[in-house]
Amino acid sequence: MNANLFCALRQAFPADLDDIAIETTDVTPLHYTWRDLERGTAMLANLLDSLDLPPGARVAVQTEKSVEALMLYLAVLRAGLVYLPLNSAYQSAEIEYFIGNARPAVFVCTPRSFGWVSRLAFSAGTAHVFTLDESRGGSLLQRAAVHSDGHVPAQRSADELAAILYTSGTTGRSKGAMLSHGNLLSNAEVLKTLWGWRAGDVLIHALPIFHVHGLFVASHGALLNGSKMIWLSKFEPRAVIARLPQATVFMGVPTLYVRLLGEAALTRDACAHMRLFVSGSAPLLLDTFEDFHARTGHTILERYGMSETGMLTSNPYALKDGFRRGGTVGFALPGVGVRVVDDSGAACSSGEIGHLQVRGPNVFKGYWQMPEKTKEEFTGDGWFRTGDVGRIDAQGYVIIVGRSKDLIISGGFNVYPAEIESVLNDMPGVAESAVIGVPHVDFGEAVVAVVVARAGAVPDAAALIIGLRDRIANFKVPKRVFVVGELPRNAMGKVQKNLLREQHKTLFAT
Ligand code: AMP
Repeated sequence: MNANLFCALRQAFPADLDDIAIETTDVTPLHYTWRDLERGTAMLANLLDSLDLPPGARVAVQTEKSVEALMLYLAVLRAGLVYLPLNSAYQSAEIEYFIGNARPAVFVCTPRSFGWVSRLAFSAGTAHVFTLDESRGGSLLQRAAVHSDGHVPAQRSADELAAILYTSGTTGRSKGAMLSHGNLLSNAEVLKTLWGWRAGDVLIHALPIFHVHGLFVASHGALLNGSKMIWLSKFEPRAVIARLPQATVFMGVPTLYVRLLGEAALTRDACAHMRLFVSGSAPLLLDTFEDFHARTGHTILERYGMSETGMLTSNPYALKDGFRRGGTVGFALPGVGVRVVDDSGAACSSGEIGHLQVRGPNVFKGYWQMPEKTKEEFTGDGWFRTGDVGRIDAQGYVIIVGRSKDLIISGGFNVYPAEIESVLNDMPGVAESAVIGVPHVDFGEAVVAVVVARAGAVPDAAALIIGLRDRIANFKVPKRVFVVGELPRNAMGKVQKNLLREQHKTLFAT
């Protein structure tokens, strides 16, 4: 049997290849049939085959989002090579690091960046640099056009690499998570069943495709169900709302939900045809969860996962399995183990906060060329240390409390930022907050909060501190509170606490 992930996705194409697989939301929408996907990926895979690359060769891709870029991903799988997507916002110093670390044989970039990318790539030994723009221009498609539109997928075992996903690196240098065909397929199959993918489903795809959420969870979900996608090259709340009546599934990071709620057109009627709204990649504020329910009648399903593992937990889809509980990321997925341990590695009891560790067929094969780092991140009995801190309640719901690297130790006490953030977020005038630790001469670290005001409100920092003193232990109360316009976030909506720590690092240093 060929365990190449492409084969499983291809097998799920509907019988009628002339059905529409992807529809864009351009002014003049483009329609791609399943046959277009079959033929386009074959031509691209034949082009890749013609380059005679060694097994395991990496194809690095930094382009804008387009259907052709998705086809390129599928073609890399089909040709049995290793796909390496890169955030389109990365600049030359970052790209230089990825090229040096991953040594790709092929680099696909935008025509705009060809000059500097090709210079970096060729000098690092990359043999081929192609271009692809968002309107089907560039050398990649020109070169593929002369190749046959028939292609036999490369034979791959479940353990062979399909992709390397670089972690977003909010707490250090990016590491390349090596994911196998088996890792990706097992996760896609579990989610297909769990989230009730069915005939007639249509996905609104508005996420970037350089990240696990848009590339794997969303695209695999639709492809493995033979479902049509409505394809937005960039998230635009009004464009999403306009297409909700033709769709059934939407996936977004929390900021996308906040932006949807900012539109008066988001109503119960607009969402009447929808079956499922999924959120993940960063914590969904309870306010957003509740406001969305009040406005649309839909309960957002929050799930939790990471580049190294794909999805790990999910709130229940079907009512028979339980309620979707805001502020939690639900239950461990079928076949996935999630446990909480203390600093010594001993199991925590139910409800106790500790380090989240996971295992399962979805867990990656290690960090690219970092065997030492890989070894550090796995326990002796084979569990992966996620770096997330959390707890599992008596019903089995997982609650994430923060990243272990964000844990603050002030005067010897452990302070979990998420606990203080949730108290702050409930205080008058506060929309959201980020709590960080900064160096302090006496305490080691001091707690500092950065707060975003609700529209129209002007929260007073001193009053917030006084309010917190009534609610939480003194050692957890921030020494300083800053009110700001917005929190710094990366492309996936994660708050970049490293930037906040950097900004405030000298507050109590002397
Ligand atoms: P990435 O590899 O970029 O997807 O980042 C993975 C990290 O995002 C996880 O380790 C979590 O810290 C965080 N994350 C993902 N989903 C959630 C969620 N639903 N709630 C809280 N944090 C999340």
